[in-house]
This record gives sequence, C-alpha cells and structure tokens, in this order.
Amino acid sequence: MPARILVLGGSFAGLTAALSVKSRLGADADVTVVSAADRFVFNPSLIWLPFGRRGRTDITFPIAPTLERHGVRFVHGTAASVDPDEHRVETSEGDFDYDYLVIATGYRNDLDVVPGMRETPTITTLAAAERTADAWRRFLDDPGDVIIGATQGASCFGAAYEFLFNTSYQLRRAGLHGKVKLTYVTAEPYAGHFGIDGMPGAKTLMRMFARKEGITVRTGQAMREIRPDALVLTDDRELPYKFAMVVPPFRGQDFLARTPGLVDAGGYVPVRPTYQTHHWDDVYAVGIAAAVPVPWTTAIPTGIPKTGFPTEQQAHVAAKNIADQVHGTEPATRKEFARIPALCIMDAGNNGVAMFADHMLPPRNAAVMIPGPQNHLAKVAFEKYSLAKMRAGRVRLP
Ligand SMILES: Cc1cc2nc3c(=O)[nH]c(=O)nc-3n(C[C@H](O)[C@H](O)[C@H](O)COP(=O)(O)OP(=O)(O)OC[C@H]3O[C@@H](n4cnc5c(N)ncnc54)[C@H](O)[C@@H]3O)c2cc1C
Repeated sequence: MPARILVLGGSFAGLTAALSVKSRLGADADVTVVSAADRFVFNPSLIWLPFGRRGRTDITFPIAPTLERHGVRFVHGTAASVDPDEHRVETSEGDFDYDYLVIATGYRNDLDVVPGMRETPTITTLAAAERTADAWRRFLDDPGDVIIGATQGASCFGAAYEFLFNTSYQLRRAGLHGKVKLTYVTAEPYAGHFGIDGMPGAKTLMRMFARKEGITVRTGQAMREIRPDALVLTDDRELPYKFAMVVPPFRGQDFLARTPGLVDAGGYVPVRPTYQTHHWDDVYAVGIAAAVPVPWTTAIPTGIPKTGFPTEQQAHVAAKNIADQVHGTEPATRKEFARIPALCIMDAGNNGVAMFADHMLPPRNAAVMIPGPQNHLAKVAFEKYSLAKMRAGRVRLP
C-alpha cells in the first residue's frame, strides 16, 4: 500500500512539499493537497498590484493542473480540524485519513492589532492589494500626505519597504514627488532592521535611500488607532494622511488551535529541525505555519519574516524526512530556520537592493547588501522564473 501523505495548503510551502515528496517516493506515495485557495499567488509581486503594474492573472495560476500532471490529487477545500491521534483531518470536503501530514497553511492577517486596521489598505493578500489599487486611484484624484507603515508585531517588513520605495517612484511619475509628504512608520528599532537584524550597512543604506527620496522615517513606533484620515501613535501624536498602506502582523490559521498542544500563542506550529512537530513524528509543519521563536526583544514587538527561500527549503527537508520514514529509516535531514541562507531582492520601482546572508538570523559569517537599478530587473526575473518553476511543478530546481 502506498503511504498516504496529506498536505494542507497549496502555496510556496504546500506545493513544494507535495511535489517534492511525490518525486522522491513515486508509486510508494499517494499524495493529496487540500487547499483553501485553488490558485497559487506569487505574493512578492503584490507590491506592484496597487499601481497597476501587475494584475491578478499575471501573478497567479490554477494549482490543480500542476499537481495532477505530477500525480498529486488536489482538493479545493478548507481544513477545519486535525486529529493527530486518529490520523485524520476534517475539511469542508469531508474527512481525510493520513499516514503523514504536512501543515503548510501559512498566515492570516491579524486585523485586530489596531482599531481601524480592518478598513486600512494593505497588500498582504491578493484581495487586499486589489482594494488598495482602488484607494491609490482615489488618492491620485485627490492627493495629499502619504503614510506607509508596519504595525507593532508585524514581520513582513521587506514588503513594507518595497511598497514605500515603489510609492515614492509612483509619486514621481504622477508629478507629486516633493509636493506631498511621504512618511514611513515602523515598529522596527531602526530602519533596515527588517525583523532579521544585523545586516551590515543596512542602517546606512536605508537612511541614504530615505534621504534621497525625501521620506520621513519614524522607527520604534506603536499605533493606537488608524482613522480614515489620520494615524494615531501610542504617544498620542496624530499623522494626517490622504493615502495609507499598513502591514499588519501575521498569525497562524485558527483551526490549528483546536488541536491541544499543536500551536504556540501566535497560532504557529513549533517544530524540530526535521520539521516534525514536537509531539507527533508523522505530523510536519513548514513555511509560515511553522513557528520561529524571536531570539531578541525590541522596545516595540516585531516578528521574523518567513520568506520564500526558507519556506521552500523547509518543505524539501520535510519531504526528504517523510521519504526516510516511508522507507523505514529515521528522518535524517535537519535544517534550523535560523541557519538557512537569506536571499532576498527588495524592489524600489526602478532601483532596489539585493540581500544575501549565510544565515537568516545572526550570528552570520557572511552577509552583503548590494544596491542598484539592476535589482529591479533581478526582481522581475525572479518573479518570471519562480512562477514558471512553480507552474511546471519543477520544485526541485533551485
Ligand atoms: C506582500 C508580500 C510580499 C512578499 N515578498 C516576498 C519577497 O519578495 N521574497 C520572498 O522570498 N518572500 C516574500 N514574501 C513571503 C512569501 O510570500 C512567503 O514566504 C510565502 O507566501 C510562504 O508560503 P506558505 O506556503 O508558507 O504560506 P502562504 O503563502 O500563506 O500559503 C498558505 C496556503 O494555505 C492555504 N490555507 C490556509 N488556510 C487553510 C485551511 N484551513 N485549509 C486548507 N488550506 C488553507 C492558503 O489558501 C494558501 O494556499 C512576501 C509576502 C507578502 C505577503
């Protein structure tokens, strides 16, 4: 009998885990993906959507044909609960029994972090980025000051910076640069912390970029309320705006908390370096769904960004370890999140910064940030390559 491998989630982590384990085990594995979304969304391109530089069809594709071509079954459904002792997952499309489970259900926005966040434009989902496009169009008809922010507890700082510098670029194109005030408000202790701290030269580079673009930067800030026309900080200062985009914190999916002992306070699944959960050898968690403890405290809480590269690495580690287990051996591959290399390109409209480090989190032996206009082209190339790779299901390519 082939091993029944059930993967929850069909994004970077879920697609990679499902296709990687199927390619390793072939006929020895019966792999099913259950995902609430039936399309893959290339989140890194959401920064361009509000400015009309990308549309929904440019950055998404349906996942069923990709999975089915590689012999993986796809079910468009939502998981409602996990019973690790019975090896069963309850979903909107019925119950699924498994021998091995991979939780790859990513994040949800914590829109209750600050009153008014629910109504504030953001870019952390496709639907939200489309609504932000409407807000940007309204802003162009009636311009004024602009705020780009990341709330207390946020982690996706890269996207906030990319959106900030893309906004500056778009203000220039609209003839508004220098005429309206552009402010960045962040929980980070310094500009260039990014939630990963310690990138050499990051502080100077971000300060230089901000000065060149005429951006006012307010670090170490917590928000009290986001009104339709003003951001109120916890020290009672009010920053009026005509357009704002704010990145909220992420949390794990709520259904996971129904299983006692599965998740931490943030709704994420604590894992071992093998990506097995602490209590169950046959339950794995990868990507944003897997917990990463924050190894420092900042005056205003910040989270750690879980980007695409570590997500895919974790999914491959889980796939290899499940293959080991199916073959009757102990899971042999271990890769802690903190020790995975960091590879990231931050776009700035027609410019950007490439970031490379040997480790996601300090201590690092090697880390470099390379600014320059070539990074915009590199980001576009990264988008095209990643979408083509994922759509073809060639997840074992780099
Ligand atoms: C705006 C933005 C910009 C980014 N930019 C970059 C970048 O430039 N470079 C980079 O490397 N990374 C970037 N990232 C991070 C990158 O998008 C994440 O690393 C990646 O999305 C993580 O993938 P995941 O599969 O773990 O989670 P997710 O992408 O959150 O996917 C979760 C999947 O689970 C499904 N799901 C959720 N709940 C359920 C349920 N109950 N049942 C079944 N399925 C469920 C969802 O539908 C989805 O398919 C960015 C993220 C954002 C939001």
